[in-house]
Amino acid sequence: MIIKRSKAAGLIVALVGLFLLSACSNPATGNTGGQTSNGTIPVVAAENFYGDIVSQIGGKHVSVTSILSDPNVDPHTYESNVNQVKAVAKARLIVANGGGYDDWMDKLISSTPDESRRVLKGFDLATVKLPDNEHIWYSSANARTIATAIADNLKAIDAHHAAEYEANLQRFKSESMKIDQKLATIKAKYAGTPIGLTETIFLYQTGPMGLNVLTPTEFQKAMAENNDPPANTVITAENQITRRQIKVLIYNQQAQSTITSRLQSEAQAQHIPTMAVTETMPGNQTYQSWMIGQLNTLEQSLGQRQ
Ligand SMILES: [Zn+2]
Repeated sequence: MIIKRSKAAGLIVALVGLFLLSACSNPATGNTGGQTSNGTIPVVAAENFYGDIVSQIGGKHVSVTSILSDPNVDPHTYESNVNQVKAVAKARLIVANGGGYDDWMDKLISSTPDESRRVLKGFDLATVKLPDNEHIWYSSANARTIATAIADNLKAIDAHHAAEYEANLQRFKSESMKIDQKLATIKAKYAGTPIGLTETIFLYQTGPMGLNVLTPTEFQKAMAENNDPPANTVITAENQITRRQIKVLIYNQQAQSTITSRLQSEAQAQHIPTMAVTETMPGNQTYQSWMIGQLNTLEQSLGQRQ
């Protein structure tokens, strides 16, 4: 594994070198023009939910490349590849999460230096932050803060369309308030309900809903960090299911292991509803529809008779 990775890293360095060489000998492919051939602003998002927000704000004036978008990939263990180097080198705006979540993006950025390129990091902009929890995009307040920063940067890059970016931002903000309304609706009906959670991602929403997460925090953290959870926390999580102490088991579909799969089957055996949440945005969704869709499913699960 280590040998494989260092080989891959060597290959990336070599290809970055080649790319930079060709960029130098042919200035037309470099970043100085600032726009793609069709006149749009090239943007790279490390994750597709940020890419979607950029698309919603930038409309037809941006061309967005989202790197992480495969729902079958665990983003915690992702390693970038050479295909992304060129897009990052050309981008005028980059949106990543930061906070240790996508360090591979830092490598891509530093391997293609460009002082005029703008870089936004969701984690650094976020005002709602939970301890040891980098999944800040699960807070709609953070999404609005990040959307505002995206709009500000697009206005600075392309002042000509500033009014359009502002209008799109206002629409995004008002649509995203539906997420907050849904959280409030669920809170009104189900605050205090005990639930299980395999990974820390959904804590940004269980908090506002007032749900009582019983699964040990150390278990959730280990799953988020791709580590083995402490044995006693596994036993506790299993007992909470077999003793039917939780009403719903929420699991992260993109951070699965044999342990979480076992918890799911134990929950099913106990007729406890299980519900998947995802780390990245599924296809054919927007940030808003993704968040609201998951919350609708949760509301149904919480209302299920057991
Ligand atoms: Zn995660």
